[in-house]
Amino acid sequence: MLDYIVVGLGLSGLAVTAELDKRKREFIVFENNSQKSSYVAGGIYNPVILKRFTPAWKACEQIDIAIPFYKQLEEKFGIRIVNPWSIYRRFHSVEEQNDWFVAADKPRLSRFLDPVLKKNDNPNLIASYSLGKVCETGNIDTECLLDTYRAYLDETYKLRHESFDYDNLKYNNGYWEYNGLQSRNVIFCEGFGLKKNPYFNYLPLTGNKGEYITIYSEELQLDFAVKSSVFLMPLGNNLYKVGATYDNHDKSPEPTPAAREKLISQLKQLIRCDFEVVDQLAGIRPSVSDRRPVVGKHPEHEHMYCCNGYGSRGVLIAPNMAAELLDHIENDKKLDPETDLDRFTSKYYNS
Ligand SMILES: Cc1cc2nc3c(=O)[nH]c(=O)nc-3n(C[C@H](O)[C@H](O)[C@H](O)COP(=O)(O)OP(=O)(O)OC[C@H]3O[C@@H](n4cnc5c(N)ncnc54)[C@H](O)[C@@H]3O)c2cc1C
Repeated sequence: MLDYIVVGLGLSGLAVTAELDKRKREFIVFENNSQKSSYVAGGIYNPVILKRFTPAWKACEQIDIAIPFYKQLEEKFGIRIVNPWSIYRRFHSVEEQNDWFVAADKPRLSRFLDPVLKKNDNPNLIASYSLGKVCETGNIDTECLLDTYRAYLDETYKLRHESFDYDNLKYNNGYWEYNGLQSRNVIFCEGFGLKKNPYFNYLPLTGNKGEYITIYSEELQLDFAVKSSVFLMPLGNNLYKVGATYDNHDKSPEPTPAAREKLISQLKQLIRCDFEVVDQLAGIRPSVSDRRPVVGKHPEHEHMYCCNGYGSRGVLIAPNMAAELLDHIENDKKLDPETDLDRFTSKYYNS
């Protein structure tokens, strides 16, 4: 008898599975490669909303759990996935610079916003005003993390490379049965794939398509990440990631010419040298209109859970939510009402 079946191995399923592994639980994961959000993510961890200079939701708490979580995985697998660097916010006016100073003085932001501004000394970066440095940021190499973790689960026969077929899941005297497997619990972590899940598709997951382009430029010679209307992130070897777009309407998985043109046009307002687009990627962020995760137990079915809704901040949120959900399941710890999917229970009964 398994303790858990986990469906989906993006950032959410990975964090849940790593937590189960730590707790020495028996589990099997299903993954069908239908969603790409975690793979294509820039993997940026940034505790500040740089449009308004406000702290991201629970950012302090999340960063203190997430970074040690990824560092433990680095150690366990002998890989390098945590890349700390600073993000520089490009200012558009003196007023914005002044707003930065005010924000940098606030208790929840002073840890992250450097009050000393940086003068731009790169001739190819268009920045008439100074740049504000955000500390304790960087990115997680999500591709390396997911590939490594999948290989690890493969070696231990815990990963099934197949679509989970919801019709074959049956509840039987206190446990779930699925194609010959028996499990005490099922946790669904399908990202936007949740739309096909008959148990949880009442949840108002809207999905937000995001696209990145990768450019090659020998001239740019930029060694830090810049946030303006887009992120420009150095990858090394004269390659840079540029993005991402936000689209609430298109739910197709493929990259689009429209997003490519938009990113190129935004980039041309940020740099003044030649570049070549060498790649483009797309994914659907699993988002909810109140911008909070949707985590918890199914309103009716016993031992059935969902861990989803991370929107554009999966890197920081996933390790926190996985630990909270498992404490809830195993130690009866109450979930934060802001994240508990309980808040949508009336939708279930009206659906
Ligand atoms: C362009 C872009 C850039 C982003 N940049 C950042 C960033 O810089 N920082 C950040 O924190 N976040 C970023 N995000 C958001 C982040 O990627 C998401 O919050 C996160 O990936 C969500 O993870 P998830 O595991 O919930 O969903 P997903 O990554 O979608 O994973 C769900 C998994 O479930 C699998 N699955 C679904 N249905 C089934 C089924 N029936 N059977 C088996 N398997 C199934 C899918 O194949 C998939 O692997 C970005 C997103 C996009 C699209």
